[in-house]
Amino acid sequence: MQQPGILNQLRRMSARVGKNILLTQAAGGNSSIKQGDVLWVKASGAWLADAETQDIFLPISLSGARAALADGNERMPLAPGHAASPLRASIETSLHALMPHPVVLHVHSVNTIAWSVRRDGSDELAGRLDSLAWHWLDYHHPGLPLAQAVSESLAQRPADVLILGNHGLVVGASTCDAAEELVMEVERRLSLQPRIAEPAADDTLKQICAGTEYRPAPDPVHHSLATNPHNLSIATKGSLYPDHVIFLGRAMPALVEGDDLAALAARVAADGLPPSVAVLVRGKGTIIRTDASAAAQALLTCLALVVTRLPFDAAVEYLPPAKEQALLNWDAEHYRQQMTARR
Ligand SMILES: [Zn+2]
Repeated sequence: MQQPGILNQLRRMSARVGKNILLTQAAGGNSSIKQGDVLWVKASGAWLADAETQDIFLPISLSGARAALADGNERMPLAPGHAASPLRASIETSLHALMPHPVVLHVHSVNTIAWSVRRDGSDELAGRLDSLAWHWLDYHHPGLPLAQAVSESLAQRPADVLILGNHGLVVGASTCDAAEELVMEVERRLSLQPRIAEPAADDTLKQICAGTEYRPAPDPVHHSLATNPHNLSIATKGSLYPDHVIFLGRAMPALVEGDDLAALAARVAADGLPPSVAVLVRGKGTIIRTDASAAAQALLTCLALVVTRLPFDAAVEYLPPAKEQALLNWDAEHYRQQMTARR
């Protein structure tokens, strides 16, 4: 595939952003650049971190993508003259197409997410984002519904920064460097101190996991979800954003004293749910399935980074069950998960 030089800037910037766990986890986030009538956008399920070592961008017809959005169609046409690709364009391609900026960058940055799941988020951000052209959007299902909401919002007033409720951040800029800098600027302004939690009780976790399909979680930050009572309380009440639901399931299950893993697994199965990817052991730490994917581990890290940034008394807006179900039943999301796992 003939690729223009302009794509190198996008690849370099995307790889940097993709390797920063505070900005992107696994195949989350996406980036694009417009050149004439071509929109180079990340492929669904690809990892931004791989942008310099793999071909993760697809050439989409910009006018075709905008027409598809107007028709309510999620199928994005390839730009004329480009060979067919086995890859599918990102779920958020219509969002990238509709924004007027040459470069669009969407990230699941943890400081922004920590504000975006709070009921007072939009009010609190007003002062912090002062002087930026920004919009707050309440939660919308990713893909077409989100793009349509953004389209209506931008029709009211142009903006370079979109805070997506229970989801993340989108910025538009004239260059790749400017887009990256704008993301960093928003994250600096929204920066929150994480709550420090007790370390894990390693021996207890090993005892609980012995002979089971679980092992102690690998990242020290994972344990903060269980060793601090406030973190545990937040994480076990519900799900916070789409990739939380997709990769970790709904509210995190917790094991309390006197309970055992087999009884917990039986309860989960009785509810018709798949086995829990990770389980919080109250006061002791977090355990994770031995077959948990790299993506699930990254999303568990993200959850810990977000939850430790939520104040004790924050009014948290969880995703309602119907919205969780819509994410779990979504074909485009099943495809993305397969591609994510194939890495
Ligand atoms: Zn997203």
